[in-house]
Amino acid sequence: MQKTTFINLMMFLLLCFTSQAQMQSPEEFLKFKKGDRFLRHHQVVSYYEYVAAQNPSQVKLIQYGSTNEGRPLIVAVVASPENFASLEEIRTNNLKSIGLLDGKPSSRKQPAIAWMSYNVHGNESCGTNTAPFVIHELLNPNSSRSKAILANTVVILDPSINPDGYDRYANWYNQKVGARFNANAAAWEHQEPWPGGRFNHYIFDLNRDWAWQVQKESQERMALYRQWMPQLHADFHEQGVESPYYFSPAAKPYHEDITAWQREFQKIIGDYNKKDFDKNGWLYFSKERFDLLYPSYGDTYPTYNGAFGMTYEQGGSGRAGLGIVKRDGDTLTLKQRIDHHFSTSFACLDAISANADKAVNEFVKFHDNTSKNPIGPYKSYVIKTKGEEARVKEFLNYLDKEGFQYGVAGKDYMANGYSYHDDKSGFVKVEAEDVVFNLYQPRSMFLKILMEPKTMVEDSMTYDITSWSLPYAYGLKAYALKDRLNPTAKANFENKITKTDNAYAYLARWQSFTDLKFLSAIMQKGIKVRSAAKSFEMEGQTYPAGTLVITRTGNERLGAQLEKILTDEATKLGVGLTAVTTGMATKGSDFGSENVVFLKMPKVATVAGEGISTTGFGEVWHFFDQQIQYPITVLPENTLGSTNLSQFDVLILPGGNYNRILNESTLGKIKEWVRNGGRLIAIENALKALAGKEGFELKVKEDEKKKESDESKLKIYGNAERESISEETPGSIYRVTMDTTHPLAFGYGNTYFSLVLEGASYQYLNDGWNVGITKSKDLIAGFAGVKAQEKLKNSLIWGVQDMGRGNVVYLANNPLFRGFWQNGKLLFGNAVFVIGN
Ligand SMILES: [Zn+2]
Repeated sequence: MQKTTFINLMMFLLLCFTSQAQMQSPEEFLKFKKGDRFLRHHQVVSYYEYVAAQNPSQVKLIQYGSTNEGRPLIVAVVASPENFASLEEIRTNNLKSIGLLDGKPSSRKQPAIAWMSYNVHGNESCGTNTAPFVIHELLNPNSSRSKAILANTVVILDPSINPDGYDRYANWYNQKVGARFNANAAAWEHQEPWPGGRFNHYIFDLNRDWAWQVQKESQERMALYRQWMPQLHADFHEQGVESPYYFSPAAKPYHEDITAWQREFQKIIGDYNKKDFDKNGWLYFSKERFDLLYPSYGDTYPTYNGAFGMTYEQGGSGRAGLGIVKRDGDTLTLKQRIDHHFSTSFACLDAISANADKAVNEFVKFHDNTSKNPIGPYKSYVIKTKGEEARVKEFLNYLDKEGFQYGVAGKDYMANGYSYHDDKSGFVKVEAEDVVFNLYQPRSMFLKILMEPKTMVEDSMTYDITSWSLPYAYGLKAYALKDRLNPTAKANFENKITKTDNAYAYLARWQSFTDLKFLSAIMQKGIKVRSAAKSFEMEGQTYPAGTLVITRTGNERLGAQLEKILTDEATKLGVGLTAVTTGMATKGSDFGSENVVFLKMPKVATVAGEGISTTGFGEVWHFFDQQIQYPITVLPENTLGSTNLSQFDVLILPGGNYNRILNESTLGKIKEWVRNGGRLIAIENALKALAGKEGFELKVKEDEKKKESDESKLKIYGNAERESISEETPGSIYRVTMDTTHPLAFGYGNTYFSLVLEGASYQYLNDGWNVGITKSKDLIAGFAGVKAQEKLKNSLIWGVQDMGRGNVVYLANNPLFRGFWQNGKLLFGNAVFVIGN
C-alpha cells in the first residue's frame, strides 16, 4: 500500500466516524456532474455505503440479495435519529398491527413506511442516477422539508432493483458515446441492441414478476418487503422519449377491490406530484395508460397488500442517452430526467408524510377489514388432492413462499361451491385430506385476487393480462366456497419412496413439473429411463401413461449406485418412487414391450437475437438453465443457417418474428434436419413462420369472410383504440380439450386451462395430431375481444406433425409465459423429452 493511499484511507475512516463532517454530495464523492454520464451500479452502491457510514444514527444499509451476475441488491433504510433508535420496534409493530407477527404492537407512535424503488427496468436508467441525489437530500441537515418527512416517515430506498439490466445498458451506452453526446436520434448511441437493458440476466421483466417471484431478484426483494410491509411503494420508470411525465392518479381499469381511501390517495398524491411540474412548466399526464389490475406489478402488488402503489414514468428509456432531440425540436437531457424523478420522489414523500397518521391507521384498518370481513363472494377454497398430490404440492410451495395459511379438511363432508374446472356451481365432496384455506387471514385481499375465478375488468383497455387465477395456472381441481371452512389439521404430503433388495425396476409417476425436474436430474446422472406409452397395472397399483420406468437392465453399470441416486434425487425433490420386483404388468404392457419407450437424453438448442421475442427467449433459457438445470445451447439467430444442426436432437423456436431469420435456405435446412429425426418446437408467434410453408401442415385460420355493409364501414375516429381491442386478447384463460393418448399430453387430464395471449389462431391439422384444441365455447376467464373470441373458436392450441423420422411440435400458446403458468411446464417437458422417442 502506498503512503498516500494509506493517508487517504485514514482520512476516509476519520470522516466516517466524525458525525459533524459535511457529507459529500454524489457529484463530489463520485467526481462527476449531474447528467454528464451514466453512473455504473457499483458507483451508486459505493455512494450508498458512504452515506450509511456517514450517518450511522440515521441510515441502515441492508444487502438483501445478489443478482444472477453477482451484483449486490441493497436498500437503505433512512429515518430520523429518534425513529432510527427504535427501527426494529417500528418494523415489528407494523407487522403485529396487521397480524403478520404474533403479539400486540407497543404503544409507540408508528411512523409511515415509504418504499421507493428505482430502475426495475434496467434501461430506464435515470432512476438509478436519481437515487444518490434523493438519499443525499433526505439527509441534508439544512433541509426542513427532509426533516419534516423523516419526522413521521421511515424511507426505504432501493437505488436499483435490476442492476444486471441497468449495467447492461449503462456500460453499452458509455462505450458508444463520444466526448460529447450526439442528440441526433439516428446516432448509434440511441439504438440499443437486442435484448436491451430492460430485463434482468435471464431476460425477464421484473415488473411482471412481483407476485410470482420466478426470478432471484424478486424472491430476495419480496422476502424483505414482507418483513417491512410499507404503506407506500413508488416505482420509478421511464417511457418513450416523446412522452411527457406520467404520475398518479392511475388509469382505469382499477381492480374492483381497491378501497375508497386508496382511490382517494391517488388523487391526493396527484396534487403533490403536479406542484413542481406546474411551477416549472414541465409537461405531464395522469389517468391514462397505466392501470391497476394485473397483480404482479410494483404498483398493484403493494396496492393489494394495503399500500399505495404508485408508478412514475419519465420520458426517456434506452433511447434517450445523455441527450436526444425530440420531435418538437427540444433536447431531452439526462439531467432533466433526473430532476423530474427527484421532484416526484420528494412529492411522493411529502404526500405520505402529510398523511402519515391516516396512512398508518387506514393501513391497519384495511388489513383488519379484509381479514375479518373478506372481500368478494367466496370466503374459502378447497383443493382436491387424491391423485393430484404432485401438482397440489407445487401450489402449496407457492402459498408457503407468500406466507399464506392453509391446512387439510380433516374429515369428509358435503359443501356447496364453484368448480373452477367445470366453471359452474354445485355440490362439492370435501374429503379429509383435501387442502382447505380461507380468507380470514392476514393479506387476504391479495390471496383473494390470486384465487378469484374471474377478474372483474372495469374497462377492457388494460396494459396487461386480465386473468391469472391460480387454480388454472397450477392445474388444480379447486372449488371456491361462500361459507367459511376452517382447516383442522396441517397438510402433510410425504412422498413415499419404497425400496427393495431385488428391484427389477423403479417407477415414478408423471404428474407435475417436479417430476420433470426429477427426469432431468437422473438423466444427467447417466441413468437410462423409459416412459410408459400406455397406462398399466402392477402389484395392485394403476400407473397412467407417462410413468417413468427405470429398469435395472440398462443401468447395470451403476450397480448399487442406481438406487442411491434415484432415492437421493427423489427425496431432494419430494418425488414418489416405487420399487417393483417384476417386469410383468397385471394389465397393460410389460416393461420389455415397445410400449415402454426408451427416452433418449436430448441435446437441446434454441435461438436468440434480433427478431426473436426477448422475454420469449428468456423464458426458454431460464426454464432450462435454472428451473430444470438441463444443458441448452443458445445459437445466435444469424448463425442458424450455418450451424451443423445434426449435433442437436431438439431445436426450440421461441416466439418472435422469423421473416428474416428463416429464409428459404435456412428453413430448407431445418426441414431436412427434422426429416432425419430432429424435433422442432415452435412457440406462439413463431408458428407464423411455419404456417402455410411447404412441408408444414399448419395453416392460419382464414378470416371469416368480411361481409361489410356500407354502414359497418362508418367508424368513429375517437373509438379507434377501442375498435382495435376487439381483435385482441390481452391474456385470457381458455379451456383446451386434450388428446390424453398422445405423449404431448401425458400427465394431464382431458382438460387443460391455457393462458391465451395471441389473437392469431390456427386450423386443426389435417395430417397430424391435434393434441390440444378449443371448441366453440371455451373462454373461461379474462377479456378477449369480440373478433378474437370468434377466431379462437375451434382452433389448434397444441399440435404435433410427424415429418420423416422427426416431428414438428406446434405450441400456439406459450406454456412458459413469465414462468408462472406452472401447469404448462410439464407439457413443454413432454415436447422436449418424451415425444418422438
Ligand atoms: Zn418501466
